[in-house]
Amino acid sequence: MGKGTQAKLLSEEYDIPHYSTGDMLRAAIVAHTSLGLKAKAFMDAGQLVPDDVMIGIIRETLATPEASHGFILDGFPRTLPQAEALTQMFKDLGIADYLVINIDLADEEVVRRLSNRVQCPNDGKIFHRELDGVAAGGSCPACGTALIERADDSPATVRARLGVYHAKTSPVLGYYERLGRAVTVDGGASIEEVHHQITHQVNAPGAS
Ligand code: AMP
Repeated sequence: MGKGTQAKLLSEEYDIPHYSTGDMLRAAIVAHTSLGLKAKAFMDAGQLVPDDVMIGIIRETLATPEASHGFILDGFPRTLPQAEALTQMFKDLGIADYLVINIDLADEEVVRRLSNRVQCPNDGKIFHRELDGVAAGGSCPACGTALIERADDSPATVRARLGVYHAKTSPVLGYYERLGRAVTVDGGASIEEVHHQITHQVNAPGAS
């Protein structure tokens, strides 16, 4: 939660690409590609898109020249098999330096924040009602299309997503902690403060 905002800031600060698997999937749904058709039902239900699909997307993305000088992964890996596959990809690509940032936020706060989001149905972009000064029915700041509530931000789907997070994604944190690669920051702080905490960790001596 807040990972997209933080990933964008880091991508600008370090001038490296930002790869959000959620954004990629939403763009595929809007474009009606076969990936979009496959992913939509899982996403609308708050479930994860199958590992083989996600691993394939990231493998292709990391092999591009654009990714050769570093990148931010946002929303991947979300399961242990994805994390293990990423470790193998890093080996194959000769990537040894990386850091995993865990943005920690209590479930109730996650629910409160998700209810503040709206989406552009044209390009799939996500906005925050308060931070971006937009509302459902108002215009997308990028393209003017009327904004809607994101399908998977309904209360029932948010509960499903939190359940999936605790069952499938939280073990990923343990995996990276055991590898000594994970750092945790307090997601309850302001956007600027979280960004500061992250860059402090990235620049710390001994950071991977
Ligand atoms: P996000 O925008 O990161 O919250 O992702 C939105 C939705 O896309 C998730 O709830 C999943 O359904 C799907 N998704 C994004 N990334 C992944 C991933 N790495 N593995 C499986 N599903 C994903």
